[in-house]
Amino acid sequence: MSFASKVLDLSSLPQGSRSHYEKLLHERHWTVGHNSSKEATTSLDRQTLLTCSLCSSTDRRADDTYDHVFRLCPHSLLHKCRTDLNRQLDQYQLTTDLEKRLIPHIAQLVLSPDGHHICLGKWNSVQLTSLASVLIPTDTSEAIEAVLLDFSRTLVLRIDALW
Ligand SMILES: [Zn+2]
Repeated sequence: MSFASKVLDLSSLPQGSRSHYEKLLHERHWTVGHNSSKEATTSLDRQTLLTCSLCSSTDRRADDTYDHVFRLCPHSLLHKCRTDLNRQLDQYQLTTDLEKRLIPHIAQLVLSPDGHHICLGKWNSVQLTSLASVLIPTDTSEAIEAVLLDFSRTLVLRIDALW
Protein backbone atom coordinates (compact mmCIF):
# COMPACT_ATOMS: atom_id res chain seq x y z
CA MET A 1 0.00 0.00 0.00
CA SER A 2 2.88 2.40 0.66
CA PHE A 3 4.25 1.78 -2.86
CA ALA A 4 0.77 2.44 -4.21
CA SER A 5 0.67 5.73 -2.28
CA LYS A 6 4.02 6.69 -3.78
CA VAL A 7 2.95 5.76 -7.30
CA LEU A 8 -0.18 7.82 -6.96
CA ASP A 9 1.63 10.57 -5.01
CA LEU A 10 -1.33 10.54 -2.63
CA SER A 11 0.14 12.92 -0.05
CA SER A 12 0.40 15.81 -2.51
CA LEU A 13 -2.99 15.39 -4.18
CA PRO A 14 -6.01 17.55 -3.44
CA GLN A 15 -8.55 15.86 -1.16
CA GLY A 16 -10.94 15.02 -4.03
CA SER A 17 -8.31 13.21 -6.13
CA ARG A 18 -6.93 11.47 -3.07
CA SER A 19 -10.36 10.09 -2.21
CA HIS A 20 -10.80 8.92 -5.81
CA TYR A 21 -7.59 6.87 -5.73
CA GLU A 22 -8.13 5.59 -2.21
CA LYS A 23 -11.48 4.26 -3.35
CA LEU A 24 -9.84 2.61 -6.36
CA LEU A 25 -7.18 1.07 -4.16
CA HIS A 26 -9.85 -0.54 -2.08
CA GLU A 27 -11.60 -1.57 -5.30
CA ARG A 28 -15.00 -0.55 -4.04
CA HIS A 29 -16.05 0.84 -7.35
CA TRP A 30 -16.31 -2.49 -9.10
CA THR A 31 -17.12 -4.65 -6.10
CA VAL A 32 -20.49 -2.99 -5.61
CA GLY A 33 -22.31 -5.30 -8.01
CA HIS A 34 -20.33 -8.27 -6.85
CA ASN A 35 -21.07 -7.74 -3.17
CA SER A 36 -24.70 -6.82 -3.58
CA SER A 37 -25.15 -9.95 -5.67
CA LYS A 38 -24.58 -12.00 -2.51
CA GLU A 39 -27.76 -10.52 -1.11
CA ALA A 40 -29.82 -11.23 -4.21
CA THR A 41 -32.72 -13.47 -3.31
CA THR A 42 -33.25 -15.07 -6.70
CA SER A 43 -30.76 -16.27 -9.26
CA LEU A 44 -32.29 -13.86 -11.75
CA ASP A 45 -31.56 -10.93 -9.39
CA ARG A 46 -28.04 -12.19 -8.95
CA GLN A 47 -27.55 -12.57 -12.68
CA THR A 48 -28.84 -9.04 -13.29
CA LEU A 49 -26.53 -7.52 -10.69
CA LEU A 50 -23.49 -9.23 -12.14
CA THR A 51 -24.16 -8.70 -15.82
CA CYS A 52 -21.95 -6.04 -17.40
CA SER A 53 -24.02 -2.92 -18.00
CA LEU A 54 -21.88 -1.99 -21.01
CA CYS A 55 -21.87 -5.19 -23.04
CA SER A 56 -24.46 -7.35 -21.23
CA SER A 57 -21.83 -10.05 -20.91
CA THR A 58 -22.14 -12.64 -18.19
CA ASP A 59 -18.33 -12.71 -17.80
CA ARG A 60 -18.71 -10.68 -14.66
CA ARG A 61 -20.37 -13.60 -12.92
CA ALA A 62 -16.97 -15.19 -12.64
CA ASP A 63 -14.43 -14.02 -10.08
CA ASP A 64 -12.75 -11.85 -12.70
CA THR A 65 -15.08 -8.86 -12.34
CA TYR A 66 -12.21 -6.38 -12.59
CA ASP A 67 -10.57 -8.28 -15.41
CA HIS A 68 -13.76 -7.95 -17.40
CA VAL A 69 -13.57 -4.16 -17.38
CA PHE A 70 -9.81 -3.98 -17.55
CA ARG A 71 -9.09 -6.57 -20.24
CA LEU A 72 -12.12 -8.34 -21.62
CA CYS A 73 -15.18 -6.11 -22.07
CA PRO A 74 -15.83 -5.89 -25.84
CA HIS A 75 -17.81 -2.64 -25.59
CA SER A 76 -16.53 -0.42 -28.42
CA LEU A 77 -15.48 2.52 -26.22
CA LEU A 78 -13.57 0.34 -23.77
CA HIS A 79 -12.00 -1.59 -26.64
CA LYS A 80 -10.82 1.61 -28.35
CA CYS A 81 -9.56 3.00 -25.05
CA ARG A 82 -7.54 -0.17 -24.38
CA THR A 83 -6.10 -0.17 -27.92
CA ASP A 84 -4.92 3.44 -27.51
CA LEU A 85 -3.44 2.69 -24.10
CA ASN A 86 -1.64 -0.39 -25.42
CA ARG A 87 -0.04 1.76 -28.09
CA GLN A 88 1.23 4.09 -25.35
CA LEU A 89 2.71 1.08 -23.53
CA ASP A 90 4.53 0.05 -26.72
CA GLN A 91 5.94 3.55 -27.15
CA TYR A 92 7.32 3.88 -23.63
CA GLN A 93 10.94 5.08 -23.87
CA LEU A 94 13.40 2.35 -22.89
CA THR A 95 16.86 3.75 -22.16
CA THR A 96 18.72 1.67 -19.59
CA ASP A 97 19.39 -2.06 -19.62
CA LEU A 98 17.19 -2.39 -16.52
CA GLU A 99 14.29 -0.64 -18.26
CA LYS A 100 14.72 -2.87 -21.31
CA ARG A 101 14.39 -5.96 -19.09
CA LEU A 102 11.68 -4.69 -16.74
CA ILE A 103 9.25 -2.60 -18.76
CA PRO A 104 8.28 -5.10 -21.50
CA HIS A 105 7.81 -7.72 -18.78
CA ILE A 106 5.63 -5.42 -16.69
CA ALA A 107 3.62 -4.42 -19.76
CA GLN A 108 2.95 -8.12 -20.36
CA LEU A 109 1.79 -8.53 -16.76
CA VAL A 110 -0.51 -5.51 -17.11
CA LEU A 111 -2.20 -7.22 -20.05
CA SER A 112 -2.54 -10.50 -18.12
CA PRO A 113 -5.21 -11.46 -15.57
CA ASP A 114 -5.17 -9.14 -12.54
CA GLY A 115 -3.13 -6.56 -14.47
CA HIS A 116 -5.13 -3.81 -12.77
CA HIS A 117 -3.24 -4.59 -9.53
CA ILE A 118 -0.04 -3.44 -11.19
CA CYS A 119 -1.61 -0.19 -12.36
CA LEU A 120 -2.61 0.50 -8.77
CA GLY A 121 0.84 -0.38 -7.42
CA LYS A 122 -0.70 -3.33 -5.57
CA TRP A 123 1.21 -6.27 -7.03
CA ASN A 124 0.15 -9.75 -5.97
CA SER A 125 2.68 -12.45 -5.07
CA VAL A 126 2.49 -14.16 -8.48
CA GLN A 127 3.23 -10.85 -10.21
CA LEU A 128 6.13 -10.10 -7.85
CA THR A 129 7.64 -13.54 -8.42
CA SER A 130 7.31 -13.05 -12.15
CA LEU A 131 9.03 -9.67 -11.93
CA ALA A 132 11.91 -11.17 -9.97
CA SER A 133 12.60 -13.52 -12.88
CA VAL A 134 13.92 -10.65 -15.05
CA LEU A 135 16.14 -9.11 -12.35
CA ILE A 136 19.85 -9.80 -12.02
CA PRO A 137 21.99 -9.66 -8.83
CA THR A 138 23.62 -6.34 -9.80
CA ASP A 139 20.27 -4.49 -10.00
CA THR A 140 20.00 -2.25 -6.95
CA SER A 141 16.71 -1.86 -5.10
CA GLU A 142 16.93 1.94 -5.60
CA ALA A 143 17.28 1.55 -9.38
CA ILE A 144 14.44 -0.98 -9.53
CA GLU A 145 12.14 1.23 -7.46
CA ALA A 146 12.93 4.28 -9.61
CA VAL A 147 12.05 2.41 -12.82
CA LEU A 148 8.88 0.96 -11.28
CA LEU A 149 7.77 4.29 -9.88
CA ASP A 150 8.26 6.09 -13.17
CA PHE A 151 6.51 3.46 -15.24
CA SER A 152 3.73 3.00 -12.68
CA ARG A 153 2.84 6.68 -12.97
CA THR A 154 2.08 6.13 -16.66
CA LEU A 155 -0.02 3.10 -15.68
CA VAL A 156 -2.16 5.25 -13.40
CA LEU A 157 -3.42 6.94 -16.56
CA ARG A 158 -4.59 3.55 -17.74
CA ILE A 159 -6.67 3.01 -14.61
CA ASP A 160 -8.13 6.51 -14.90
CA ALA A 161 -9.01 6.09 -18.55
CA LEU A 162 -10.59 2.64 -18.21
CA TRP A 163 -12.37 3.09 -14.90
ZN1 LIG B 1 -18.67 -5.67 -20.55
